[in-house]
Amino acid sequence: MRFRPGRFDREKTGMLRRFCPAHAVASLPEISLDDLKAEDKSLILLDVDHTLVKWKQEEFSPEVLAWIAKAKEMGFHLCILSNTRHPERLQRLATQLGIEAFRGRFKPSTHMYEMALEKYGRRPQEAVMIGDQIMTDVLGANRSGIDAIWVQKMEGPEFIGTKFNRMMELLVTSLLYRSLVTPVDAIDANPGNLPFFERAIVKQILKFGFVGGISFVIDFTIRYLLVRKISFGGEKLSNTAGRWLLDHFPTIFKFATRPDAAFMPIAVFIAASVAMFNSFLLNRSFTFKVKSDEGKGQQLAKVYIVGYIGMGLNILISSGLYNIIPGHPDRSIAVSAVCAAVIVAAWNFVGQRYFAFQVHKEG
Ligand SMILES: [Mg+2]
Repeated sequence: MRFRPGRFDREKTGMLRRFCPAHAVASLPEISLDDLKAEDKSLILLDVDHTLVKWKQEEFSPEVLAWIAKAKEMGFHLCILSNTRHPERLQRLATQLGIEAFRGRFKPSTHMYEMALEKYGRRPQEAVMIGDQIMTDVLGANRSGIDAIWVQKMEGPEFIGTKFNRMMELLVTSLLYRSLVTPVDAIDANPGNLPFFERAIVKQILKFGFVGGISFVIDFTIRYLLVRKISFGGEKLSNTAGRWLLDHFPTIFKFATRPDAAFMPIAVFIAASVAMFNSFLLNRSFTFKVKSDEGKGQQLAKVYIVGYIGMGLNILISSGLYNIIPGHPDRSIAVSAVCAAVIVAAWNFVGQRYFAFQVHKEG
């Protein structure tokens, strides 16, 4: 998962408050010790695996070592809180850093947090917990009244139980990200900081696909009724109209092997025009979230321009396929419509986003 750093507004998180860190950063050395000092923090509690060092490893990066050394120099008390099943490794790590380590009941139990507060004689507000897991480090800290800083997990494999926690974490964080206080500029400058499903374009494509699904149903229903269902005087409309087209414009409709196939382009035009209006309404408000009413008429015109060019493609592709796909006409009409819809959807997305609504130019 990609990681978006920043400060969280915990007032906004509601029921998820207990899972919400005060702060998210990419790695431990990026945490400003001056800021912690300014916030009157004097006790730093640290998780081990994927926060200080990779799982099972014992070699600290020079940046981590420098950060720890500076923290000590500035007068912070530091201590490790760990659930590890390998106390010897924990002891070696703590000795290397020259700080204390507590082992206790599994986080998110408040047990180890309380041990540390008591040992150093601090109040919860004076402490900060730094860890890479929401379900243990952050939740445990919040339950103890301690601010938590959530760091991105280091690269590399992890304990199998941790993987389960990560799934819960993904669920919780995708909701929490909405309460992240980050200037819009910063996100624009580096959209790569956003988790995949939080990226504007990904959301737009998903929503556009959803709207497209509705438009497709509208389009197909109208088309199906026109070509296959509506009859006048005991004969299908598509056959009557198709024969008329073949009689009067034999050159244009010579592609058609049956009268109803000649009528197909007309049915496509009517159905698509209705579907396009649906697409305009829903994509404008739901997909691209256009707020102001300014230029609404122009946007509608542009959606129709994009749509009619797309329909040209649609007529070419679906009529061509309806004409050549063998088998029952019900099947031919469905297959040809699906193929054309996929290609035309891509065209329409690009046309609406960059030409009609021009959302890429906004924040
Ligand atoms: Mg960890």
